[in-house]
Amino acid sequence: MKLTVLGFLGGYPAHGNGTSSYLLQSAGFNLLIDCGSAALLSLEETLDPLKLNAVILTHYHHDHTADLGVLQYYWQLHAQRYAEHVLPIYGHNEDQQNFSGLDWPGATTGIAYDPNQTLVLGPFKIGFLKTHHPVPAYALKIVDIKSNKVLVFTADTAYFDQLTPFSARANLLMTDTNFFANKTGQRWHMTSTESGKLAKDAQVDQLLLTHLPAEGNLSQLKDEAQITAGDIPIIVASRHLEVTI
Ligand SMILES: [Zn+2]
Ligand SMILES: [Zn+2]
Repeated sequence: MKLTVLGFLGGYPAHGNGTSSYLLQSAGFNLLIDCGSAALLSLEETLDPLKLNAVILTHYHHDHTADLGVLQYYWQLHAQRYAEHVLPIYGHNEDQQNFSGLDWPGATTGIAYDPNQTLVLGPFKIGFLKTHHPVPAYALKIVDIKSNKVLVFTADTAYFDQLTPFSARANLLMTDTNFFANKTGQRWHMTSTESGKLAKDAQVDQLLLTHLPAEGNLSQLKDEAQITAGDIPIIVASRHLEVTI
């Protein structure tokens, strides 16, 4: 499977870069994971948005959903070409107001995932773990059924112990690394050193730092993560970065 980073900042877009959004492709199936600010522009440079097969949302914070409305308009305004094709958008239904917004007549339809069940979506099997965040949010464990390769995305979360077994031996672990190591006070995201520790404890093949701070030196963020990650290779997310898993 191939992962393309469309947006990777936490909170708000900055310096030409957007917030959380990733394209995951395997066997001709195109899955959009989160749809943050500037996601549609970035997707348009990568793939015809009408070729999406599904969207999955980790949670309903704006930095993960800001471009959903314009994606729905994009599909609506191309209705003649894809008259019988409605884009499914998977999200949890613990927030009925936001969940109901996934439906846009003739364009998209909201489908609730059950976090206690494995979701089979095209070539992928997707498992869920509720994270530590101010609103219900789910980490995703995505298995490419044919190759058995595993991508784990922590979504937004403070560090907590259950992330380790959930991430165990993933081929790629993608972590919410919104903070530098010296962040103090209440945290709803992980620090660089927590991301590195998680990668090390879970014995993953590779760590991708994402949901990055808009300001600050990202090579410092990586260096901090490397201290706790040991010899596990670390990649820092960037716009249109492609990772083959
Ligand atoms: Zn976020
Ligand atoms: Zn969030």
